[in-house]
Amino acid sequence: MQFNHYGGSGTFLAADLLNTGELTPATLRRLLGAHEMANRDLDEAQAAALAAWLAGVRPVFGEPAVVRQIALVNELLCGATASVRVSMHDGNAPHLHYITGTDDPVARISAAIAGGLAVAVCGAGGSRLGRCSREGCPVVYVDTSRNGRRRFCSTACANRVNVAAHRAREKTPG
Ligand SMILES: [Zn+2]
Ligand SMILES: [Zn+2]
Repeated sequence: MQFNHYGGSGTFLAADLLNTGELTPATLRRLLGAHEMANRDLDEAQAAALAAWLAGVRPVFGEPAVVRQIALVNELLCGATASVRVSMHDGNAPHLHYITGTDDPVARISAAIAGGLAVAVCGAGGSRLGRCSREGCPVVYVDTSRNGRRRFCSTACANRVNVAAHRAREKTPG
């Protein structure tokens, strides 16, 4: 797993799910497959339950106060995962598995995300879980840049903010 200290697949999956509009069973099957999640077949009710749970994940991204961010992650962990194992199945590097004691896909996905966020906050720093700085842009991301100073979801958003700032400066007399 390439980005282990960013929380493995859990944080990237969380960001992708949060950045996707409506989470239908078909959308989830595609996204969960892309993130190599074993549980990817959710029915309508399970998709809705996962979307509801993800509402509690969104504020973790871009939370500037680390104490508050940790409290949010601990809250997610508390409800999501029963215990943790280290695994290196299928020739993978050692990584954490979050045990739920149930086959319910919502529980398993929630546990993987909550665990991933916890690892990212401890290993990479909570500021790596970012939210686009352009006002009104809801996109969240895992900041894997070398200096960890990513501020926007895309160059499109960065350009819009920079152009606006430039215009504001030009309007200022003197
Ligand atoms: Zn695994
Ligand atoms: Zn943006």
